[in-house]
Amino acid sequence: MGYVKFLGTAGARFVVARQLRFSAGTWIELGETRLLLDPGPGTLLRLRKSRPPLDPLKLDAILLSHTHLDHSTDVNILVEAMADGGYRRRGALLAPADALEGDDPVVLRYVRPFLERIETWQAGGEHRVGEVKIRPVAHRHGNVEAYGLVVDSPEGRVGFITDTRFSPDLASHYAGCALLVLNVVLKDWKPDVDHLALPQAGEIIAAVGPRLAVLTHFGTTMLRGNPRQLALGLGERLGIPVVAAADGLTLDAAGWAPALAVPTAE
Ligand SMILES: [Zn+2]
Repeated sequence: MGYVKFLGTAGARFVVARQLRFSAGTWIELGETRLLLDPGPGTLLRLRKSRPPLDPLKLDAILLSHTHLDHSTDVNILVEAMADGGYRRRGALLAPADALEGDDPVVLRYVRPFLERIETWQAGGEHRVGEVKIRPVAHRHGNVEAYGLVVDSPEGRVGFITDTRFSPDLASHYAGCALLVLNVVLKDWKPDVDHLALPQAGEIIAAVGPRLAVLTHFGTTMLRGNPRQLALGLGERLGIPVVAAADGLTLDAAGWAPALAVPTAE
């Protein structure tokens, strides 16, 4: 049975710099395919300290949604770890083009040959890793290329709405997601911010109608507001289960793909 494990849930500079929450990425295991999304600062440490420890050597791919520090700091060490210290070519890296080229490529050239393949996200594209199919969704987020992800897997469709400015058509790209994970930095809406706030997350969740929605990537206003209570309140209002991620939270696929948890009668 697959699962998603949140190694870190920090989402704004203040929260990351003070490590009020860990800033590690998300381990995604669907069928036999293992992915790591957005290896922010401390990801390797949190993988190894996880109970049971998670082994980068078991990863099939590292996924970068965008190059901001809290999403990409550990990408190089994890590429190396996934490739057994660089002693074998192993695994894939799926990343925006500006992670590899341009003024500020965050993926060092010397680790690139450790990878079996590197693919760059393009809106409308489709990528295969093991048993899963990944479709990137173009997001609006500062002056970097940014993508959310729709992952089709043996355990249903899973969506990751990573950092983005709200737009009314966002929800349509995540249609059919049984599990929807949203980066919600702000508790209250503010104009001209490149992040989702809680009311906008609610709007998206209502439109997509997943079996389970998870809020993560919290800024200070969310943390002060008590994410658990905020998620609970939102879930009650929408009539859809909404939970707040905590560092180390593991969500079993049975929670969003319940049909798989029960053996079907022939
Ligand atoms: Zn960002």
